[in-house]
Amino acid sequence: MDCSAHGKPRKTRAVKVGRFTIGGSSPVSVQSMCNTDTRDLKATVDQIRRLEAAGCEIIRVAVPDMEAAQNLGRIKQAISIPLVADIHFDWRLAVEAVRQGVDKVRINPGNIGEKDKVKEVVRACASAGVPIRIGVNAGSLKALKENPKPRWTPYDWAKQMVKEALDEVRTLERLDFHNVVVSLKADDIERTLMANTLFASKSDIPLHIGVTEAGSFLAGTVKSSLGIGLLLSRGIGDTIRVSLTEDPAMQVRAAYEILKSLGLRRYGPDLVSCPTCGRCQVNVGKVIHELEERIYSDPQLLKQSEGMKIAVMGCVVNGPGEARSADFGVAGGKGRGIWIEKGKQMKVIKESEWVNEVIRKIRSSK
Ligand code: SF4
Repeated sequence: MDCSAHGKPRKTRAVKVGRFTIGGSSPVSVQSMCNTDTRDLKATVDQIRRLEAAGCEIIRVAVPDMEAAQNLGRIKQAISIPLVADIHFDWRLAVEAVRQGVDKVRINPGNIGEKDKVKEVVRACASAGVPIRIGVNAGSLKALKENPKPRWTPYDWAKQMVKEALDEVRTLERLDFHNVVVSLKADDIERTLMANTLFASKSDIPLHIGVTEAGSFLAGTVKSSLGIGLLLSRGIGDTIRVSLTEDPAMQVRAAYEILKSLGLRRYGPDLVSCPTCGRCQVNVGKVIHELEERIYSDPQLLKQSEGMKIAVMGCVVNGPGEARSADFGVAGGKGRGIWIEKGKQMKVIKESEWVNEVIRKIRSSK
């Protein structure tokens, strides 16, 4: 993992998930989870393809019943990124998911039940070379069954989360299974930070990090950026998922923006736009929105625009200066704007043509 913006990355073991590796020296990968019914092949495949286009690298689907488990093979055949089966309670679903060819299984061995059942899941995963993510959530700790309203400090919660994760790890290790990723999620930053930092001090198992049930787009993105960003800035975290009550494609975008702002990954352009003010006589918001829609749904444009700084400014007060420091951009006037490339004013173009001109420029640049 590159670490230009933060502390030394924690050394973790490498875990292969299909063609991706989590941990080791691999870059921090971006995951998301479908919100479709896994039994609905078309809806699920369509959503995964859209997420692939947005740059999602590993996709997880919920497997609530056998019909969903038996659909996994067909989903896998129709997509090109690794597929993860998210399973609770029923060990048979995990075994079927592995039989269907998934690349990783997310379980909480604590809710899979007796040792024999966990053993069956481990046996299936071991013989197929499929890793297991042990996902521990603060809200579903085993200790809460006996004591549903504990008077714990955030640190007590974190310790309990780490204890339960390590108990599960040991259960798998006793079965000689080491192909493991762990996640420790809470719905607040404090416990998420404490639990992951504590776990990282005790194990070399790669960590899937995120703040669970983070919330709406704005609140959730802020919370996730802080939680995930602070962990990454301490060198902790091998793969990330931003949980938002929002289109999963936006979760992918938000995840990359976090990684991009820490200098850990490159992803699309750096789009600079002004907040607009009373001087503005063009619709900067609409232009930026259309540009994002076009770029982030097209893998080729996404790749071609990587690292470019593109400015869309509302007027000629600050516009030309900002656009000059970009690779190219436009500074608005009344329904039109000055097109600027590498600091030079090139031409005047109509507002209705700005988006197309930016797209043309990206396509012709590389
Ligand atoms: S660039 Fe012009 S329109 Fe945009 S915020 Fe600055 S002064 Fe206002």
